[in-house]
Parts: sequence; structure tokens; C-alpha cells
Amino acid sequence: SPALDAQNLSKRYGGVNGIQAAKDVSLTVEAGETVALLGPSGCGKSTVLRIIAGLEVPDSGAVQVGGRDVTALPPEARHIGLVFQDYALFPHLSVLDNVAYGPRVRGLPRPTAAAQAREALALVNLAELGSRRVTELSGGQAQRVALARALATASPLLLLDEPLSNLDERLRAELRGELRALFARVGAGVLLVTHDQREALALAGRVAVMRAGQIVQQGAARDVFRHP
Ligand code: ADP
Ligand code: ADP
Repeated sequence: SPALDAQNLSKRYGGVNGIQAAKDVSLTVEAGETVALLGPSGCGKSTVLRIIAGLEVPDSGAVQVGGRDVTALPPEARHIGLVFQDYALFPHLSVLDNVAYGPRVRGLPRPTAAAQAREALALVNLAELGSRRVTELSGGQAQRVALARALATASPLLLLDEPLSNLDERLRAELRGELRALFARVGAGVLLVTHDQREALALAGRVAVMRAGQIVQQGAARDVFRHP
């Protein structure tokens, strides 16, 4: 079964005269595949991502993760790794404890959670920094910690909302390359939200283009950008 199978997601904000933020959005992401949800600001990308994550209740539609129907489950029971734009880390916790937080919340004993966190930190090349406070990190390091935290959920699905948008161009280019290699290593399904065509092309094998709440085009990244 695919890492993600989202079927006919619809969401309207503000009643009948409100905004149709998502309309009949269907998306699948296979294990090991990276899909970019691409479109201009306000087209509904974050709404779709939040519905999949369980942070927003859709008016209609269903979400399956790894073959399991999670439509009615709260976010923490969906086992989805999340990286949002403003990667809020816990400033009072060490890097390791930030990454171990998810496994701890799931009820794993401290040593097991710490071991999972160390593994995730190694994946993002931060194995040495576990005991640092997150306030001592550079922007790029902090973003990698956020990624490690998402990876430590050990889920079949990773959701990233504009993961590089808060970084300067140099860091963005550096992390773009790292992310691609990382996605290949972890083998999870990745759904990436971005308004940046270059980012979509660099990171995703498949692209779904969104306009005004609907997916208007979907296909291999190279084909989508050849015939815009
Ligand atoms: P994107 O992620 O592509 O920028 P969003 O999903 O954030 O788009 O927003 C889609 C539309 O829904 C926009 O018009 C936005 O203003 C509106 N919207 C998003 N969240 C809310 C909300 N909580 N209440 C009302 N309108 C919202
Ligand atoms: P993004 O840039 O990821 O689309 P936004 O900055 O648009 O996110 O939205 C940030 C938060 O504000 C979200 O929780 C969203 O639900 C809420 N929001 C966005 N647009 C509106 C709106 N028109 N009315 C009320 N809340 C909104």
C-alpha cells in the first residue's frame, strides 16, 4: 500500500460564502517517492497538508497512511513526520531531547527513544551535536534538527511545508542537496509543499500543481516543467 492515499479532500473556511481552500484533492505518495505539491501562496497547499497531518478537519474526504485509515485519528496517532516552515524546536531542551520528544510521547522508554533520536541525528549528519542546546545552533543546523525530529517518528510518511523557505540562498542550496540524499536513504514517502519550482524539480520525482484549491496538473517533475 502507498505511504499516503488522500482521497477527495475538501475544505471550506468561513461558511457558504467563505473560501474553498481545498476542493476534491486526491493524492498518492508511494513509499520511497518524493512528491511536491506546488502552487502560489494562498492556493491551499498548507490546508491540504494540515488535513493529512490531522491538524485540520476536512469537510469531506479520507486519508490513508501506510494502508491504514487515519481519517478519524488525532495527529499524534497518525505517526506522520512533520516539518513546518517555522520548525518550532523546544528552546529549553537539548538537541537530542528535541528529537527524542516524539518517541517519548509515543510511550517509548527513555533509552529506546534516545537511541532512535541518535539514529535520526546521524541521518542528518548531526550525531556530534546531541548535547547542544538548540539556541546555540545555526539556522541550517536547526532545520536539520527539525528534520531529524520528523524522521524519529519512524513513520512511512514525511510531510514538509516549505522546509527551506526561512534559510538564506547558500544554506538552501546546501540543504537541497542533503535532503535529496536523505530522502533516498530513509525510504519514506515524502510530500513536500513549496511555491518554488526549482525546489520541486530538485527534490521531487513527481509534482502536483495546485491552483485555487484544486490540483490542476500532476506528473513526473520533468514533464510538468516542460509543459507548464
Ligand atoms: P497556501 O498554503 O497555498 O499558501 P493555505 O492553505 O494556507 O494556502 O490557504 C488557502 C486559502 O485558505 C487562503 O485563501 C487562506 O487565506 C485561507 N485560509 C487558510 N487557513 C484559513 C483559516 N484558518 N481560516 C480562514 N481562511 C483560511
Ligand atoms: P502558509 O504560509 O503556510 O500558507 P499562513 O501564514 O497563510 O500559512 O497561515 C498561518 C496560519 O494562519 C495557519 O494556521 C492558517 O490556518 C491561518 N490562516 C491563514 N489564512 C487565514 C485567514 N484568511 N483567516 C484566518 N486564518 C488564516
